[in-house]
Formats: sequence, structure tokens, C-alpha cells
Amino acid sequence: MEKIALEGGKSQRESFLVFGKPRIEEDEIEEVVATLKSGWISTGPRVKKFEEKFSEYIGVKNCIALNSCTAGLFLALVLSGIGNNDEVITTTLTFASSANVIEHVGAKPVFVDIKESDLNFDEDLIESKINERTRALISVHMAGNSCNIEKVSKIVKRYNLVWINDAAHAIETEWDGKKISYYGDFSSYSFYATKNITTAEGGMLVVKDDKSYGRGRILSLHGISRDAWKRYSSEGFKHYEVIEPGFKYNMTDIQAALGIKQLEKIERYWKIRDEIAKMYINRLSEIDEIEPIEYSFDRRKPSYHLFILKITDDSLSRDFMMEALKYENIGTGIHYLPLHMQKYYKEKYSLKESEFPVATKLGKKIFSVPIGANITEKDVDDVICAIKKIICFVKKKIL
Ligand SMILES: *Cc1c(COP(=O)(O)O)cnc(C)c1O
Repeated sequence: MEKIALEGGKSQRESFLVFGKPRIEEDEIEEVVATLKSGWISTGPRVKKFEEKFSEYIGVKNCIALNSCTAGLFLALVLSGIGNNDEVITTTLTFASSANVIEHVGAKPVFVDIKESDLNFDEDLIESKINERTRALISVHMAGNSCNIEKVSKIVKRYNLVWINDAAHAIETEWDGKKISYYGDFSSYSFYATKNITTAEGGMLVVKDDKSYGRGRILSLHGISRDAWKRYSSEGFKHYEVIEPGFKYNMTDIQAALGIKQLEKIERYWKIRDEIAKMYINRLSEIDEIEPIEYSFDRRKPSYHLFILKITDDSLSRDFMMEALKYENIGTGIHYLPLHMQKYYKEKYSLKESEFPVATKLGKKIFSVPIGANITEKDVDDVICAIKKIICFVKKKIL
């Protein structure tokens, strides 16, 4: 038996395979430098161009570039008038910010357990969480696999709920041939460093209703009635007006410069991840103890933001696997530790693990391996070989 690196053995890889490393090329660097030299480094013409190009890509109008996806989710709740005494439904298996924003407006997040197949919230459990206080639903499309849009559509219509897509994983995701923001009232995308395309930090809020869109634009920049670059443009001097106390959520032209160039490559990068995912799926058939979550092309097209594995063998510890992989020079991640098990939410709402059996179980069994425009067939081979080596080691030790 080969000794694992954690026990002093040698790792197959020389260099560390970083999890979620962005692919930044020369043209992106040039565009950022050109922005710095242009004189407009904050919100300006590049932000406008990025919004237009993004809108073209998703096929939906009314895009507002922001400094994060979190800001977009929060704004969507504010624009919907959601606050004290309201309840908002979301999944327990998501990043903290999907629920934090609900707290920020003074409403109560109500968590739904997940499905074992794709880790999205179980659409069949949503109705049992609805009461007279329920105002909105935030759907997360885990790893870039769309939730069941047909089921969610029926529920939001029946109970007259605001529907917000946390589309942080879902830029390329489609349902019935349409991008995810085609559905729902709001969608918020993320361009954080590890996301499918990046502006280092950044987000895009899509607002369906034209009036809310106008208000959202104003609220995203101090609640003043004109963008700064318009104020000082050649159109002549115009006074600005504070319409309501807004927020400081605008994107900069430096970020947009990155975004414009990244967006040009989005389909090429998707194809790379599609190939990587297929390699993983193919190679994982060699391993009995681990399987990938479901990435299906039925009515949906996955974005492959994450490639998530489930450990199906109870004698294998997920945390040991991740630690041992680190020693094999393989970076991994957890998406996510469920929110009903996080200190703040668990204590504030007295949440019981037994209310969320699937997420409680899988929260301890899942880990994500690198998938991205940087990843090569050799990297996939290294990941698979390292996992096999570690399983072999653990099994021999148990016997
Ligand atoms: C990354 C992420 C966010 C937050 O995105 P930011 O742009 O960092 O605010 C929200 N929800 C999910 C599911 C995410 O993965």
C-alpha cells in the first residue's frame, strides 16, 4: 500500500492545486490598466457597457451592476418592501449571505431541507413552511443546477410570493432553454473571485419590474437621482437630488473592465468545465465510496460552478478526506455547512437537526473538488488518484 502524504508519504503532485483559482489573462490585465489610465476608475462607461453585455448574454433587461451579489439580494428584499414580521423561505444548504440579508431587513429566514440528488431545496417541502407571514422565497441553484422552476413557479403564484433567485452559482444555468433570471422577480449574480466569471468582487441585480428597476438603480447609489459620471459629463451641469436614503453598492469601472473581458470568454470556459465534469463523472465510476451529485441535462443546463462529491461510505470521514487531500496538494471546499447548524441561526430560531435530516446528514458528507477554466485532465487524474490512495489507506487501516 502506498503511504499517504499526511502520514509522510509522497504526493503525486508537485504544486498545490488551488480550489477556485480565477483564470485571468493578458487582455483582462490590459483592460484594467486602460481603465486606470482613462481617468474614470469608479462607476462610469465600462460599468454601463458591462451591464449591457450581461443583459445581452442572459437575454433579460434591467441589469444593475453592484459591488456584490449579497448587495443585490438585500436590495431585492428592500425593493419588495419586506421587513419586520415577514418571513422569507430559503434553503438551509447555502452560503451565509442568502439568509443574512433576510436578517438585515428585519425579517425571519425559514429554512427548507434539501434533496439528496442535487442538494437544491426540496420543492415538495416548501408549502409546509408557508404561513400568512410568508412574503418571499429565495431560490439558490446549487452548484449551478437549476431548482425545479416549474414547481417553484406554481408555489409563488399560488401564495403570491416575491421570487428572488440567488443566482451566484448560476450565470450559465438554464431551464427550458432560458437563463435563470428569465424566471422570478429578481435575480442576483456574483462575480466574486471564485465564481464562474469574476470582477474580484462584484454582482449584478436583475429586476423584472421596470419601476422597481428604476428605484433599485437609485437605491444602489446613495438614493441620488443621477449616476456620478452623468453629473459631470458634457451634457451640462445638473444638480442631483436625494430621493431616499440609499446604499453604497455601485460597481467600479476597474471591476467592470475585468467583467467585460471575462464575459467574452464565458461560453468557452463553460465548455472546459463541461469536459472536466464529464471526466470526473467518468473517473468516479472507479470509486465505490464516493459519487458526484446529479448534473443532469433534462430540462436544465448546469453551469458547473462547483463539482460536489458525496461520500457514501460511513467509515470514511469527510474532514479526514479533505485534510489528507491537502497533504496530497489538492485544494477542496465545503458547499456548505448547513445554516440550521450554524451558531446564529441554530440558537436564534431553536432549529433542530431532526427538522432537516437530509442536509444534516449530507452536510457532513459533501466536499467540492476543483472545477474551473484552469483545470486540466492531469489535474482531474491527480484528484482521482489521490482520493483512491486515501480510501485505500483508510480501508486497510480498518481491516
Ligand atoms: C458567493 C455567493 C453569494 C455571495 O456573493 P458575493 O458576490 O460574495 O456577495 C451568495 N450566495 C451564494 C449561494 C454564493 O455562493
